[in-house]
Amino acid sequence: MHYNFYPGPSKIYPQVGGYFQEAMALGILERNHRSEAFQELFSTTKSLLKSKLNIPLDYEIVVVSSATECWEIITQSFIQHESYHFFNGAFGEKWWNYTQKIHPEAKKVSCRLDENPSLQMVDKNAELLAFTHNETSNGAVIAESFQKLVRSQFPNSLIAYDATSSMAGYEFDWDSGDIWYASVQKCFGLPAGMALMIVGPKAIRRAKEVDERDHYNSFNFILKNALNNQTHHTPNIANIFLLNRLMQNVENISAIHKNLKKRKEQLYRGLSKLEKLSPLIQFDKFQSDTVFCLKGEKEVILKLKEEAEKEGFILGNGYGEWKETTIRIANFPAISNQDYIDLINFLLRFDKMN
Ligand SMILES: *Cc1c(COP(=O)(O)O)cnc(C)c1O
Repeated sequence: MHYNFYPGPSKIYPQVGGYFQEAMALGILERNHRSEAFQELFSTTKSLLKSKLNIPLDYEIVVVSSATECWEIITQSFIQHESYHFFNGAFGEKWWNYTQKIHPEAKKVSCRLDENPSLQMVDKNAELLAFTHNETSNGAVIAESFQKLVRSQFPNSLIAYDATSSMAGYEFDWDSGDIWYASVQKCFGLPAGMALMIVGPKAIRRAKEVDERDHYNSFNFILKNALNNQTHHTPNIANIFLLNRLMQNVENISAIHKNLKKRKEQLYRGLSKLEKLSPLIQFDKFQSDTVFCLKGEKEVILKLKEEAEKEGFILGNGYGEWKETTIRIANFPAISNQDYIDLINFLLRFDKMN
């Protein structure tokens, strides 16, 4: 018996095996990506995503290879001079790093775990503000009230969210961002090798003004293909198919998010009884609903990992500066409610035993 709580790559929805077989039987994986069969698949997948994730109709969806690629696409195609990167963990910092290689003026604004990022030094007409919606390395989230504040304070700037470990789990206020992206091997519960970029009208206009066309993955070229239900290179057709079938079968995002919040409450209630483990992030408002990070003494964490492995629980290792003093637990929709109950009971047993 395996329980997979790793925050990426993560638990894959069990029904995906059947979808794979269906794709083989249909022959769709062998079809050209300019064929009508593919265009039909891509088009219905986008409609299903919009309907299940409540994405506004005037946002466009494109598929690319990874979240890492999105860092570069955004830098190339939406930024000419300077962007502002807000972060308190490893993924946000990496985004800033990649941006800086192309635009050395990219600014960083680091913040602590239990606070909103500071907007004080940000130019009113900044080109782009970059946030990691859900910092997978430490379980910090950007509060929705803050997202709305940023939108209202920066009506002239583009706002971009890395939502790799929250998209398909969180019900977003999409209008508070112009660019959202996620690779699918985390919260979506699919195999690795594809990412989605969801782009609003303001960002689309801005990309046209910037008019960057030097790369195979220049955004305007990607979008032009997507508007014709094609892709700029042969895509991961298998993953598009799996996504299509998954979106047909999952509940609306609002129900999914509600269930994840309920599990979060259960877990933190269980945690409050533990002596040796506590949340890395104190305030509910900054604690992610989809990735939990628990801290403890080095020896406790080591022992916990050993015991977890013995009992068949795959937990996430700590990351970066929290490597040895934390564990991470994914709260992704592909994980069943029963697995959660079993995990909480395991943690309670561990705490008593050791
Ligand atoms: C995993 C992760 C990435 C990198 O995703 P890839 O698909 O490997 O490029 C980027 N940002 C966040 C927040 C992540 O969790």
